[in-house]
Amino acid sequence: MKYAVPVPPTYALAITGSDELFPVNRVYCVGRNYAAHAREMGKDPDRDPPFFFMKPACAVVQASEAETAIPYPPMTANFHHEIELVVTIGKGGRDIPVEQALDHVHGYAVGLDMTRRDLQLDARDKGRPWEFGKSFAQSAPIGPVHPASSVGHLSSAAITLTVNGQPRQSSDIAKLIWSVAESIAYLSRYETLEPGDVIMTGTPEGVGAVVAGDLMRGHIDGLGDIVVRVAA
Ligand code: MN
Repeated sequence: MKYAVPVPPTYALAITGSDELFPVNRVYCVGRNYAAHAREMGKDPDRDPPFFFMKPACAVVQASEAETAIPYPPMTANFHHEIELVVTIGKGGRDIPVEQALDHVHGYAVGLDMTRRDLQLDARDKGRPWEFGKSFAQSAPIGPVHPASSVGHLSSAAITLTVNGQPRQSSDIAKLIWSVAESIAYLSRYETLEPGDVIMTGTPEGVGAVVAGDLMRGHIDGLGDIVVRVAA
């Protein structure tokens, strides 16, 4: 097959303890999945059904304990960090029961859902889509994937983010309103999940702005750290 324009790249993540890569298909993100974060965004944290938005595969940037840089994106004056537990899907399916949902998980990683908050809130308040606020290139630095076959499934673990060494976000993934299994089950009723899909499970409270030069360090117990610099 000959293509008329250059074929877009495959985006992929490193897998700990393996020289294989995890190929990124779609990136689903859960909105407002910690009560204290819902409150700081001016919303009631009742257990409404989860809602999702997406990022393109080109949002994914391989991060690690070594410093990785991401650009400060254009058209924003309020670039926010959101530290999140990331789930990689290894086995596809639809209408997945909650009790079987974790069988579809390939692994877990630490990630950042970087957000142009001014654009997101403007869209939200006008009833418009969030794409310009959320769905841009290099907006999702993600660390190496830890296979569930080696680390098991995480139901509680400290999740933290510092900026220039100062604490910004600190919570526990046990506080997810919709658990990993529930999020997979719910999403699979609307869309057939595929191997390579990625789910970013939502951020705890403490989101805030970063500026060029800032150094973010994200951590989840059992999944290590990612260190991400905001470039000029
Ligand atoms: Mn998020």
